[in-house]
Amino acid sequence: MNTKYVFVSGGVASSLGKGIISASLAKLLQARGLRVTIQKFDPYINIDPGTLNPYEHGECYVTEDGAETDLDLGHYERFLGVHTSKANNVTTGRIYNTVINREREGAYLGKTVQIVPHITDEIKRRMLLLGKTGKYDVIITEIGGTVGDMESQPFIEAVRQLQWELPEEDCVTIHLTLVPYLSAAKELKTKPTQHSVQMLQQNGVQPDIIVCRTEHKLTPEIRRKVALFCNVKPGHVIESMDAPSIYSVPLNMKAEKLDQLVLDHFGIKDLPEPDLTEWNKFLDKLFHPKSQVDIALVGKYVELQDAYKSILESFVHAGAANECKVNVHSIHSEFLTTENVEEKLGGMNGILVAPGFGERGLEGKVLAVKYAREHNVPFFGICLGMQMAVVEFARDVLGLKDAISTEVNPATPVPVIDLMEDQKSTTIKGGTMRLGAYDCRLEKDSLAYRIYGKEMISERHRHRYEFNNEYLPMVEAAGMKATGKNPETGLVEIVEIPSHPFFIGVQFHPELKSTPEHPQPIFVAFVKASMKYRKEHPAAEAGAVAGAADAASDRTSGAVAGAADKAAGSSAEA
Ligand code: GLN
Repeated sequence: MNTKYVFVSGGVASSLGKGIISASLAKLLQARGLRVTIQKFDPYINIDPGTLNPYEHGECYVTEDGAETDLDLGHYERFLGVHTSKANNVTTGRIYNTVINREREGAYLGKTVQIVPHITDEIKRRMLLLGKTGKYDVIITEIGGTVGDMESQPFIEAVRQLQWELPEEDCVTIHLTLVPYLSAAKELKTKPTQHSVQMLQQNGVQPDIIVCRTEHKLTPEIRRKVALFCNVKPGHVIESMDAPSIYSVPLNMKAEKLDQLVLDHFGIKDLPEPDLTEWNKFLDKLFHPKSQVDIALVGKYVELQDAYKSILESFVHAGAANECKVNVHSIHSEFLTTENVEEKLGGMNGILVAPGFGERGLEGKVLAVKYAREHNVPFFGICLGMQMAVVEFARDVLGLKDAISTEVNPATPVPVIDLMEDQKSTTIKGGTMRLGAYDCRLEKDSLAYRIYGKEMISERHRHRYEFNNEYLPMVEAAGMKATGKNPETGLVEIVEIPSHPFFIGVQFHPELKSTPEHPQPIFVAFVKASMKYRKEHPAAEAGAVAGAADAASDRTSGAVAGAADKAAGSSAEA
């Protein structure tokens, strides 16, 4: 069988969930036994989103091979349980970079280098690249942005050409649109969809299937209208209603027969129905929790949900694994003070201090660590969160008041967190952090070992600074242990306080590998510890309400800080 290609574009509005629709279709095809991957083509000029502030583009998702990518790749991995790579995310910047470098090498000598054919050829080459590996039966390509945007035109043109070049049965195009409901008229409106499809058609692309995002059921009349005016078969109009969870969308798409339509187009027959046994087990637990916990997510990008996407999703997975609803309360670290820390964190059953870059909000993170450590509240620090756990310990337990990371004070006399040696000569900002999967060896007698149940683990990274091993003997003597290290370099990957009921800080990003079917073990253990804490501290039930109110206020106040941030930006994510 030839490799089959699905192209997914979007129209009418952004944020309709092309990534989730692509991932849901992929899941259904995979659950029928096909080998599927998804790639995203983004129309911006950055080479990758690694240099973007989370306020601009949400979380930066890191792959095993160390690519800094769009957060949709996180959805692809969570739905499929299969690793993506550098090749799965391509930007306009990368395309132009390749073409311009080639031009300088003389590859086009004598020719005028143009968007058509040189840029579109390079887009097409990359769209087909994963298909050439022989590892996949189906490649789904999501085109970022909205049809009609000036910057996505070369991508649409590349799809047009491929639709023409590939055998018809090897290529399907899907267009995702919005069918808005006008409550005054009590009517669903198809005109925006018609216009969006017309725009595609003007560019020579005729969609085979139209997926309509809608808040109300599409009537047969509406489906017929969309089909007639968009020139698709009546059965090819798919309804995508708002779902209670993104993980329900594959089931909705199955009910609408999206996978069957695609297989029919490909002429693939006799595949079994999708086997979603494990997926359904997860959904069943997700929708029928037996208890709940309140967990504080202390960060500085909290007003933007997408900034901590993988962490929030990891809590969904870990919550389901514990049959527990995790209420995540976003606490803005910039506005956490000694005066309000009790009010904001007092009702919480667990405290997670988030990753991040730069000085803003740092002291609030230190304060949150101190609160968790002193009050025996389960603590989980990720990357910068782990670094601030070390800073807090050095200051408050060792009495080293000036302890800080050299990220914020290069001249500090107590650099407990310091720039990694190989980073010292780095001046280029893009793609130069310690990125991707590295091994970590766990101490046998540790919380981490009990959680993972094995000695060698591998997790993904994205950082420039590290625990300064000069301080390790002192820190360990005072009761904070380094229980996970990189076996080659000795870099501290995990710190714990064994005298605390649950205190763990990790230099890596465990949230990047959590999936519904394989929830990340530290998240699972952290939720469990938080459930235990809640049981042992029933008063926390009442406090939770205060926490919830806080979270809402933190969202608004943070928006102002975000604006100031961009100006401050000494590093990618200040
Ligand atoms: N800013 C810190 C570093 O570069 C932490 C990074 C992170 O939290 N991802 O080491």
